[in-house]
Amino acid sequence: MPKYIFITGGVVSSLGKGIASASIGKLLESMGLKITIIKCDPYINVDPGTMNPFQHGEVYVTDDGAETDLDLGHYERFTNAIVGKANNITSGKIYYSVICKERKGEFLGGTVQVIPHITDEIKSQIKNASKGKNLDVVIVEIGGTVGDIESLPFMEAIRQMTLELGRKNAINIHLTLVPYIKSAQEIKTKPTQHSVGKLREIGIQPDILLCRSEKKLNKEIKAKIALFCNVHPDAVIGALDMDNIYEIPLTYEKQGLDKLILDLIGLKKTNGDLKDWKREVMDRMNKASKVTTIAVIGKYITLQDSYKSIYEALVHGGIANDTKLEIKRIESEEITKHGANKCLKDVQGILVPGGFGHRGVEGKIKAIQYARKNKIPFLGICLGMQTAVIEFARNVCGLANANSTEFNKKTPHPVISLLEEQRKIKNKGGTMRLGAYDCSIKKPTKSFSAYKQENISERHRHRYEFNNQYKRIMASKGLDIVGINPQKNLVEIIELKDHPWFVACQFHPEFKSKPDRPHPLFRDFIKASSHHS
Ligand code: GLN
Repeated sequence: MPKYIFITGGVVSSLGKGIASASIGKLLESMGLKITIIKCDPYINVDPGTMNPFQHGEVYVTDDGAETDLDLGHYERFTNAIVGKANNITSGKIYYSVICKERKGEFLGGTVQVIPHITDEIKSQIKNASKGKNLDVVIVEIGGTVGDIESLPFMEAIRQMTLELGRKNAINIHLTLVPYIKSAQEIKTKPTQHSVGKLREIGIQPDILLCRSEKKLNKEIKAKIALFCNVHPDAVIGALDMDNIYEIPLTYEKQGLDKLILDLIGLKKTNGDLKDWKREVMDRMNKASKVTTIAVIGKYITLQDSYKSIYEALVHGGIANDTKLEIKRIESEEITKHGANKCLKDVQGILVPGGFGHRGVEGKIKAIQYARKNKIPFLGICLGMQTAVIEFARNVCGLANANSTEFNKKTPHPVISLLEEQRKIKNKGGTMRLGAYDCSIKKPTKSFSAYKQENISERHRHRYEFNNQYKRIMASKGLDIVGINPQKNLVEIIELKDHPWFVACQFHPEFKSKPDRPHPLFRDFIKASSHHS
């Protein structure tokens, strides 16, 4: 049976619980332990797939086709854990399952209640996520902040699990804020005391406190927090604000969090440390001397979290090429207003990410035209590929008003359209083409030199497809179809022949990039961009 580490958060949201959980996962893996990480989200949506990116940030897609919370992206970027459907548990999923059981008559005669039925379902889904995987440790992150009404059933479930499994098998880590009050020039422990007080009211005594702060915590402050929160002073760990998230596992290691956790759960280190991570990620990032400027043209640009995996994958491409990145986040409507030249004149590479709905599409098309004509390295992803196809159809093939039927149902040239199987679908949740699908790559092409293999698998999240009726005319004008899904003959990757680096894919490569294993397309996109002047 695996050991469990439950991670809760207090005082305020956005303290970086996801990154903290991923960093703890990394730390445990570096000691030779096999782990997985689960995210519990207390909202009622079954998954975040139906939420607007402005509400929720990016929807992260797994190999098995789950639309999940973006924290699962951190888990996969930091660790080797392969996460899937079972790793994101929402209140929606829990209630859905309990209500379906009730309708089938499985609780016949009983009143169905939060305790024990909802809490039992939470416990069983947590346990199921690690079944048969031969894991040493399961990390469970509880979304939200202690004190929220909607997270209470999850808190109660982990309280029960901690008690049932016993202290050597289940521990609690609480991430909290220790603010610095400028005018008083003092670090304040009271919010943390209150937050832990709230946890203890629910019946959870944290074993370790991770204290987010902008100033380093001295011994006295740590001792005070320890005394008031009923934890050992060595278990008060500083989590100083960091410029670089990939340094966080190293700061935990320095403070002995690895040994502390192992002692508490009674496991032994088998081998290893974080030396490779330090060398391959941190040292290379710190040593990079050049800067490459990349424009990301999106429509949810003002929210930092909307394109999380894209920004991270770009940084990974930078690490591989020993360059720092300056990412210019450009709202596509600004391009429509001010023109591509004004917005893009000093960038070295242009990326158009995925998206839904008509707003912003024309600005993206203008940016792509600019990249094509001025031979600026270009990477298009999902909607970025679809808009590249529209741009090429309109401006190179002369197909006036070519469009995707997503934006204009009556377009004379539906170069992007729905497959028959998608036309029948009425429900929105979980019904796109989701998850891993195969792609065969033609050679010699830029994509083949990036991947160095003919058969790849990548993650998808879309409804619309390249319309194969336009293949011939596009190819005759220089649009090279270099990647195909062999089972359904769907276009997966396009390139432009007469261009230094213009690659666009229907899938989302950003979901499979890691700082120490950058995705080949991002690596080569940054390489080409860093050479563009
Ligand atoms: N809206 C497009 C589709 O559904 C593209 C989706 C995306 O970019 N993820 O096909």
